[in-house]
Parts: sequence; C-alpha cells; structure tokens
Amino acid sequence: GALLSGTGITKSYGATPALRGIDVTVGEGEIVAITGPSGCGKSTLLHCLAGILRADEGSVVYREQDLSLWSEASRSRLRRTEFGVLFQFGQLVPELTAAENVALPLLLAGSGRRDAREAALGWLARFGVADMADKRPPAMSGGQQQRCAAARALVTGPRVIFADEPTGALDQLSGEQVMTAMVQAVREQGSAVVLVTHEAPVAAYADREIVLRDGAIDPSGIGIVG
Ligand code: ADP
Ligand code: ADP
Repeated sequence: GALLSGTGITKSYGATPALRGIDVTVGEGEIVAITGPSGCGKSTLLHCLAGILRADEGSVVYREQDLSLWSEASRSRLRRTEFGVLFQFGQLVPELTAAENVALPLLLAGSGRRDAREAALGWLARFGVADMADKRPPAMSGGQQQRCAAARALVTGPRVIFADEPTGALDQLSGEQVMTAMVQAVREQGSAVVLVTHEAPVAAYADREIVLRDGAIDPSGIGIVG
C-alpha cells in the first residue's frame, strides 16, 4: 500500500490557483519525481505533501493518518523525525560547522553528542565533504554546502525525503554526485523520496515521474525523461 498519498489536493494563493485537485501516491522506498514547467505547482505540491503548507481542500495521508487533521506542532514534529527536507539552497545554520549542522537533527531527536558527531562525520564522508567538517557554511562553496545539506536531510534515516530542486544551484558534475550519493543512501535505508526537478538527468533517478501542467496532473504523462 501507499506510504504517503494525496487526494484531491487543491491550493490557491489568493486568486491564483496553484493546484487543482491532485491525486498522488508514494510507495514505501519509492523515488517519485514531480516535473513540469516553471509555475505549474511542483513546489506547492511538495510543500503540501510534507505538511509545510496546508491544502485548501483534499487530504494528505501518511501511514494511514490524515495529516490535514494534525496540529502544526504535530506536523512539525513529524518533519523532524520521519521526514527529511532538502531545498535548492541548503539553508544550513551559518553559525554552526558542517558537522554541527548535520548532527543537529540527531541532537534534536535526543542522541548524545558523541554519537551525533560520529554519525555526522560518516554522512559528510559519504557526500565527499569530510574535510569540511569543522568549517562553517560561509567558508564553503555552494556545492559543498548542498552536500552538507543532503547529509543533514538523511542523517536521521527518514521514511520520506522531500527534495525541491536539490541540485538546482549546482553544476552538472556536483549535481550528479549529490544525486548518486543520495539515491544510494535512500536505497539502503528504504526511504521514499519526493523529488521536484525541472532537470531531465535528475528526474531520471526516479522510479516514476508525475508531470504537472498548470496545477493538474498531465494524464499523457509525457515529461522530461525520455
Ligand atoms: P513550481 O514549483 O512548479 O515553479 P509553484 O508551486 O512554486 O510552481 O507555483 C505555482 C503557482 O503558484 C505559480 O503561479 C506561482 O506564481 C504561485 N505561487 C507560488 N507560491 C506563491 C506564494 N507564496 N504567493 C503567491 N503565489 C504563489
Ligand atoms: P521553486 O524554484 O522551488 O519553484 P520559486 O522560485 O517558485 O521556487 O519560489 C520560491 C519561493 O517564492 C517559494 O517560497 C514560493 O512560495 C514563493 N513564490 C513563488 N511564486 C510566488 C509568487 N508569484 N508570489 C509570491 N511568492 C512566490
């Protein structure tokens, strides 16, 4: 059965309709790409599925629980524990080192400092930035910051990772390295991924592609992956 599903998701920003009744399902361990032209509603759909935005109508069901009925505090806790998020610009805490940034979700989840640091170092190594461990984001390149943000999104072993243009700010090689490391890790962990992208090589990492046009699913399903 589905791990995460959205039914009839509808969302407007004032008079601007962004989503017009979207039905999606994400299976356990499945990587689903959401593609389509700029402004078609990809980010809005990802935010609704992650419980960051509340849909105007429709429901989001995660492990048989309707998140639209949950309080903001409960959804926020869920995002810290079972969900991982990764955006285009990593949004690291600039005052913390790379290792501290990656360790943070573990500390918030109650891990001890030593275990959290050890795990963080392991994840930084997987993403090829072990040497950045004690540097702060302003001293790192954009690609190094994004690798660090990817490590932070994965460190708690989330059931679902929500990634919005995770390689959008990277050159092609860095983008491929981040995607390869991420996909390998989620396959090992059995995490599902909801991946928003407008780049065909990135969408090609997905098991399935959902194409949006103007706030609706394009039934032809002809997207950017050939
Ligand atoms: P995409 O991710 O595919 O580029 P978005 O979900 O960001 O699409 O946007 C869908 C539509 O909603 C667009 O018309 C966009 O301009 C509009 N939109 C998105 N966010 C906001 C917002 N915070 N306020 C007003 N309009 C928004
Ligand atoms: P993405 O690259 O993820 O699609 P966007 O550039 O569409 O992101 O949007 C970045 C941020 O700006 C988001 O928080 C989105 O909600 C907001 N936004 C997008 N379109 C509009 C809009 N027309 N008016 C106001 N805010 C917007």
